[in-house]
Amino acid sequence: MDMHHIPVPALTALVRDVFVAAGCDTAESNRIATHLVGANLAGHDSHGVVRVPRYVEWLQAGHVLKDQTADIVTDGGSFAVLDGKWGFGQTVAPQAVALGIKRAQENGVCITALRNAGHIGRVGDYAEQAIAAGLISIHFVNVAGSVLVAPFGGVERRFSTNPVAIGVPLPGRPLVLDFATSLVAEGKVLVASSGGKKLPAGALIEADGTLSTDPHTLYGPYDAVGPRNPSNGTGAIRAFGEHKGSGLSFMCEMLAGCLTAGGTSGPINERGRIANGMLSIFLSPKHFGTQAEFEAMGLRYAEWISETRPANPAEPVLLPGDPENQRRADRNANGVPLPAETWSNILATATRLGVKSPV
Ligand code: NAD
Repeated sequence: MDMHHIPVPALTALVRDVFVAAGCDTAESNRIATHLVGANLAGHDSHGVVRVPRYVEWLQAGHVLKDQTADIVTDGGSFAVLDGKWGFGQTVAPQAVALGIKRAQENGVCITALRNAGHIGRVGDYAEQAIAAGLISIHFVNVAGSVLVAPFGGVERRFSTNPVAIGVPLPGRPLVLDFATSLVAEGKVLVASSGGKKLPAGALIEADGTLSTDPHTLYGPYDAVGPRNPSNGTGAIRAFGEHKGSGLSFMCEMLAGCLTAGGTSGPINERGRIANGMLSIFLSPKHFGTQAEFEAMGLRYAEWISETRPANPAEPVLLPGDPENQRRADRNANGVPLPAETWSNILATATRLGVKSPV
């Protein structure tokens, strides 16, 4: 496959310039660019710069708003409900997380319930924000207004891709478990539709129950270069882990959709746009015992798991977060690999906004 390797500084600058040209201020544009390129660096191309054309489209359509500050709707001290007011997720989610971190550092624990956030991207980023402050965090996320995933045993779309993330701050070994409860994230279908990594067997299901790996199942007909619209397809993504993943996805709707009051995936999307809801739990290990004891016990256990004799000697057992750390090192050194179609979609958006690519 034709791949371009774009150096990280050039890619970040291009994405920043695109959002500045689209009307965001420099700080917000930098946040969006750093987050999207950061997702590519972690190897999650599905939540990286492939999203640029769609984010710009949403901004221009008024589906996401620039320069918003999350409002605190209810302040319970140990918990807070925040309204992201349809601001960029990369702006309002870090604000909610910063509040949760501050309160957990003071009191040992805090729960934040964020609603109406624009697409927050790679959820592991927020777990990493908490890890940097020495905290454990757990995040349940839903996508209000987006139905993409069939529940276990069904062929109709009912859930969104509903990610869950857990971060644990071990010194020198940050642990980040972060995945969609769908068999693949929607962005992975997006990447596959642009010539990127193919989907695993059984990732999608047609309306008649046939399993599929063809992105057209989700997007219907589309041009080689240009946006993809999931509402044009007749099939669905499947939930991971049979009834267990499907149940976890359902609970994301309860926690991130209903408890935050941001709304669920369906049945009707009256607002014509999507928003992430995120219920986050922040825990301070030092308030539960001593940070040193927690870290020592955690590191000892993590080490023991890493040392498990692998089924394939060439593939050592990895811990959550290991693959991302390895890819980050490689891509920082060698640039971000982008399929030709993804790169030309980004350049087409840039050109339309009068932005020249530095590469
Ligand atoms: P994935 O299937 O690649 O799983 C990633 C997780 O599995 C990571 O924690 C990783 O460290 C761990 N992992 C991977 N390989 C491993 C191995 N060999 N051994 C041990 N652990 C391993 O992730 P995904 O489901 O494709 O999700 C991709 C991204 O999409 C996530 O960052 C998620 O937050 C994001 N997402 C966001 C939204 C949203 O609405 N904002 C929706 C869905 C997904």
